Formats: sequence, C-alpha cells, structure tokens
Amino acid sequence: MKLGAIEGGGTKFVVGIGNEKGEIFDRASFPTTTPEETMARCVEYFKDKDVEAIGFSCFGPIDPDPDSPTYGYVTTTPKPYWANYNALGDLKKAFPNTPIAFDTDVNGACLGEVTFGAGKGLKNVVYYTIGTGVGAGVYVEGNLVHGLVHPEAGHVPLIIREDDPYKGRCPYHGNCLEGMCAGPAIEDRWGKSAKELPVDHPAWDLEAYYIGQALASVVLILSPQKIILGGGVMHQSHLFPMISKYMNQFLNDYIKHDALKDPNYIQWPALGDNAGLCGSIALAMKALEK
Ligand code: ADP
Ligand code: ZN
Repeated sequence: MKLGAIEGGGTKFVVGIGNEKGEIFDRASFPTTTPEETMARCVEYFKDKDVEAIGFSCFGPIDPDPDSPTYGYVTTTPKPYWANYNALGDLKKAFPNTPIAFDTDVNGACLGEVTFGAGKGLKNVVYYTIGTGVGAGVYVEGNLVHGLVHPEAGHVPLIIREDDPYKGRCPYHGNCLEGMCAGPAIEDRWGKSAKELPVDHPAWDLEAYYIGQALASVVLILSPQKIILGGGVMHQSHLFPMISKYMNQFLNDYIKHDALKDPNYIQWPALGDNAGLCGSIALAMKALEK
C-alpha cells in the first residue's frame, strides 16, 4: 500500500510516503509560509507519487466536520494568513479522486500511537502535546473524538497552587493548562527558556503539579487506558514520574485500577520523530476504509 502523509505544523510542514505498517519510505519538509504557497508545495510533492490515499493532520483550530460548509478549514488561528483558510480544499482540487482524511495534529498523533506505537491495541487513549501550545488528541471506544469541533483539552481551567502568583498567559483564559504549562508560559514566568532550566529548578515541580491535575481530570472524564505526552517540554523526562505522582495525588485512590500506578501509564510517544507522519499515515488508512 502506498499512502501519503502531511504533518502540517505552525512552523513547518512535513510530507511523506509510507505504508500500512507505518513504515516511512520518503519524506520532505518545508517551512510554513503563506497557506497558498505551503499547500502548493504539498501538491507538488504528491503530484507524481500516485498514492492511494492521503492523511492530513494540521495545526488548528480546524473544522473537522465533513458536514460543515467550512470542513477542511483552518479556522480561528492567530497565525498570519491562515485564519479561515480552506487548506483541505487545495488538496482536493489537485487530487479529486484520492481519498483524503483531515484532522487535528494531535488527533493524528494519537491515532498514530494507537495504530503503530505506545497505544497499540488499546481502545481509549489520550495524547497531549506540551510545546508552544498544549493540545490533546482523544481516542475513545476505538474512534477519534470530534463533536462541536474537536477536543481542546489544553485549555481546561486549573486550580492554582497557593504558592503560585503567576497569572498565566492564555489570551482567552489566563491560567488554563496551556496558559500555565506550555513552553512560552515557562519562559514568561521564569525569565528563561524551558530548555535552559536545570532539572532541580522549582519550575518543574509546579509544571508537574498542573499537568498531573489536568491528567486527573481526563482520567475522571474519559477513563483512558494510557496517556501519551509529547511535545518539546516533555523532553524533560524527569517530569514523567512527577506528573504521575501528582495525578495520583489528585485522584486520591478514588479510581481503583492498577494501571494508574504503572510507570508506563503516562508515556512518551513510542514513534519518536515519525509520530506526526505515522499519524497521518494512519489517517490515510482511515480514509481508505471509508
Ligand atoms: P511546537 O509545539 O511548536 O510544535 P515543540 O513541541 O518543539 O514545538 O515545542 C516548543 C516548545 O517546547 C518551546 O516553548 C520550547 O521552549 C520547549 N522545549 C523544546 N525543547 C525543550 C526541552 N528540551 N526542554 C524543555 N522545553 C523544551
Ligand atoms: Zn486557554
């Protein structure tokens, strides 16, 4: 099977060719410039590749509802030129006979992990990226979750710790998860890039406290069998056990399941550098199924 993948990020786009085993045979990447130019480069890449289907996972917010008149659009992004842009439309015009699936970057990554990676065989998995922003892909009962739009679990409100004076930097909510824990919030709060903070810096305990709190909520609401945490900030691997500790502290043994205490319950993406492309390959497989 020859499947096409597009990992559309706010900074760069990665395109590639793979198969139903999640093997990637070819890849290319280019910076995200104007949508017209960026989508044209995607079309150019696939023009002579003759793929059976394409999976396109895209930064958002997006409209993932096939019944909506703005299906396939990037919607309210602050990213210059991309707001209300019909990104999927450019692909459909170029490849009218190729099935194309379109979803959020995090739903794509979640599906990739469920199909080929850390969540293989599981039916309920949540995938967070904690990077420039915080987003979550949600897979429940064997399906990616959409709805009004798509889950925005990076913007859940938090209970602020008593010793924390920081107000958060989300323009909509101040101290939501993204406003408190994304890379730019860490830098804003401590005056230093997250990458440069030593592992014994107090930033990390607070970071784990808030992420653990958000994960406790998602465990209560969705009962995931595994939670995968990716994104730049999660390169701080010492955070994983700390997050697990706080998640369990917030849950306070209310939910009786051994998995919650398993050190692999909260896990780094198994697909590593291929996570985005493999997610889009998995989306392409879904497009073919339909
Ligand atoms: P994006 O979210 O834009 O796709 P990333 O997931 O790489 O990109 O996230 C970028 C953010 O992650 C930046 O705010 C950066 O400070 C932070 N970051 C990147 N690498 C590290 C690291 N090793 N430790 C902590 N934070 C990091
Ligand atoms: Zn917010």
